[in-house]
Amino acid sequence: MSILLVADIHANLPALEAVLQAAGSFDRVWCLGDVVGYGPHPNECLERLQGFQHLCVAGNHDWAALGKADLAVFNAVARRAALWTSDRLTPAGRSYLEERPLTLSDGEYTLTHGSPRDPIWEYLLSVSAARLNFDHFQTAHCFIGHSHVPLLFWQGHGSVEGRQLAEERLRLPDLGRVILNPGSVGQPRDGDWRASFALLDPETGQVEQRRVEYELERTQMDIRSAGLPEVLASRLSYGH
Ligand code: ZN
Repeated sequence: MSILLVADIHANLPALEAVLQAAGSFDRVWCLGDVVGYGPHPNECLERLQGFQHLCVAGNHDWAALGKADLAVFNAVARRAALWTSDRLTPAGRSYLEERPLTLSDGEYTLTHGSPRDPIWEYLLSVSAARLNFDHFQTAHCFIGHSHVPLLFWQGHGSVEGRQLAEERLRLPDLGRVILNPGSVGQPRDGDWRASFALLDPETGQVEQRRVEYELERTQMDIRSAGLPEVLASRLSYGH
């Protein structure tokens, strides 16, 4: 069994297509929220994801596009993109997003967007924040998104440690309990523009963290012709 782990696709279809191709053969997809928002292909990404056997939780940008999140907490660019997305979502896309839960679990794994204790809003970026979250999920491991940075936190003998993930392989049970963010497919923010994703063997806990180049210019062109804010196109070039 092989599971493709993706987060923060953000309506970037070329990035999603590159990840699907690079992943090779997999049995299902686990998506950690924010399928839409920022990017120009919300309906296309939702339809592509639903073509696979998959699990998907809701993210803050999914909620924003549905009018379920208070847009006052978004900056001007995110707000404009959320309204643009909301105007274009098909009824099918909207009802799919409406049905997404905040957290899901399957076997030894919990899936959520922000963090186990605050699935929509908390950015889990530090060891101190991670320490406060290990008591908020029941399974051995938890996969998150939201920060757009590939990160690993682990709880060994009482202590919690963390670090950024490179392209690497690791076995979760060797580390204890783990919170892992596979990074963002559609808008990476770790200084590397390439789409980020991971592959999981759920039986052994083996994870392969990967990056792949995609047709960046196609997404940027579509952002510009959609009339979305220019910064959403330019930031993709430098992964920020
Ligand atoms: Zn996001």
